[in-house]
Amino acid sequence: MFSFSKFFLASSLEEAYSELLKNKKNIILGGTSYLRMGNTSWNTAIDLSNLNLNYILEKEDFISIGAMTTFRSLETNSLLKDYFGEIFNTALKDIIGVQFRTNVTVGATVFSKYGFSDLIPVLLALDSKVKLFNGGILTLESFLNESDIRRDILVEILIPKKVCKTSFQCVRKSKTDYSIINLAICKFDNSITIAVGSRPGKAILARKTMDIFNHSENIENEIINAMKYIGNEIPLDSNMRGSKSYRELLLAALLRKGIQEVLN
Ligand SMILES: Cc1cc2nc3c(=O)[nH]c(=O)nc-3n(C[C@H](O)[C@H](O)[C@H](O)COP(=O)(O)OP(=O)(O)OC[C@H]3O[C@@H](n4cnc5c(N)ncnc54)[C@H](O)[C@@H]3O)c2cc1C
Repeated sequence: MFSFSKFFLASSLEEAYSELLKNKKNIILGGTSYLRMGNTSWNTAIDLSNLNLNYILEKEDFISIGAMTTFRSLETNSLLKDYFGEIFNTALKDIIGVQFRTNVTVGATVFSKYGFSDLIPVLLALDSKVKLFNGGILTLESFLNESDIRRDILVEILIPKKVCKTSFQCVRKSKTDYSIINLAICKFDNSITIAVGSRPGKAILARKTMDIFNHSENIENEIINAMKYIGNEIPLDSNMRGSKSYRELLLAALLRKGIQEVLN
């Protein structure tokens, strides 16, 4: 179990950020489910829960999701369903249980760039941006590409407001285990976006495979070609959950299922 010597209930983001910078061992608290898995002794634990960062709001061009929003809120939110179909519910419903998902937060998950995340590929396929307190707004893709973890606070996620067809596919050895591989697809008009996660590395966009579909007159005709291609494009690896070659086979099969789902 983690521990900390001081607790700081922030009354503004400015205050939280300045407290974070005071000591390398100061940390931001999300839902603390992941922090509780470690044994680190921290200096000051900074709580954002008084900052009204638990929201899903419709803005002019974006849907904005506050950092302290829980997975359960994403799963059950009707605005997200209206724009993006069932993708949040499908991706998150098998993570442990309802109580757990009522606690874990969006900001902690995205800021930590977990390779095993089921949420990050969904946000990536939906072309999301992240808003950092100090670093401003940047695309989720460029944020994930940074190898260093910044000293910053993730404030919100911005998803472009486009009604699209979506699909989330994954394989788990058992319910509640981490995905062996996962895949999120978004189809807006005739443009396809594909994100692959649990490779087991951080989620990435399958840009060349997307090009195969997006340069074709008939998406369905390209499925077999893209299934052969995606395993070469996406760097995959082995870990305790599955071998690289197993992931290659799964990825091709999940791609076919996902594309067929967004075409229906
Ligand atoms: C047992 C277990 C099983 C899991 N299984 C899955 C799974 O199958 N699929 C899946 O997708 N996920 C899974 N997860 C991950 C989970 O869904 C969350 O992504 C994770 O717990 C982080 O959320 P949290 O709110 O608990 O973060 P915390 O534990 O509170 O924080 C995690 C890190 O994020 C930092 N942080 C928190 N908020 C912010 C912020 N706003 N800005 C900057 N930094 C911040 C913290 O300082 C800390 O370093 C699992 C987690 C656990 C513990």
